[in-house]
Amino acid sequence: MAAVTLRGVRKSFGRFEVIHGVDLDIRDGEFVAFVGPSGCGKSTLLRLIAGLEDLSDGDLSIDGALVNDLPPARRGIAMVFQSYALYPHMTAYDNMAFGLTLSRTDKRTIEERVRAAARLLQIENLLERKPRDLSGGQRQRVAIGRAIVREPKVFLFDEPLSNLDAALRVQTRMEIAKLKEDLRATMIYVTHDQVEAMTLADRIVVLNAGRVEQVGSPLDLYHRPRNRFVAGFIGSPA
Ligand code: ADP
Ligand code: MG
Repeated sequence: MAAVTLRGVRKSFGRFEVIHGVDLDIRDGEFVAFVGPSGCGKSTLLRLIAGLEDLSDGDLSIDGALVNDLPPARRGIAMVFQSYALYPHMTAYDNMAFGLTLSRTDKRTIEERVRAAARLLQIENLLERKPRDLSGGQRQRVAIGRAIVREPKVFLFDEPLSNLDAALRVQTRMEIAKLKEDLRATMIYVTHDQVEAMTLADRIVVLNAGRVEQVGSPLDLYHRPRNRFVAGFIGSPA
């Protein structure tokens, strides 16, 4: 578990600033959802935390240490993408093991961790299959498993359910809720779906055009939206 702190974080692409000075304190073991309309900067903020993009200004700390200049592999994070990003030629097992193989973890530890994650995600019987022989929901579980085996301090999810059909989305959402209870790691979860945010998150960060509009618990935001934008987004009656 680890706290994540952002101070005055800015990001520009060329001449265009898309993140305009974000301050955030995410606590140890907290499940935080980033919500907001398409293009508001959710993925960019997540990619900055992951180290997949460099900050243009500001400071980012994970677990009390400044990580502005640390590469992704040394930040203690693991990211789950909407598109799964599995290697098509590798089995589910090898996809889950791959990151650990690179970091020279010994074979037995790798096997133990992959089996434990597979048990948690109920994909033990699918480990020898390649991605093309798995359903969308099963692929997403392998992608989540690949994150779990690395035992990250922080999990980052970028709209992990948005490629799934409605029924599977509900089911996978419940599995993520269970994962949250089982792993008790810090989780940052990007979604444009307010139902996902309201049901999963301890706190919600509402983003609007590269700025934080409001931060609060689901009930806070529902009952006390700061403005019409938040009210409209959260679906509260105000
Ligand atoms: P969201 O995930 O909330 O839909 P993004 O973080 O993907 O939003 O994008 C925020 C803004 O930054 C958008 O205007 C997008 O076009 C822009 N953007 C994101 N990535 C890049 C990039 N690599 N180069 C240029 N502009 C980008
Ligand atoms: Mg996005």
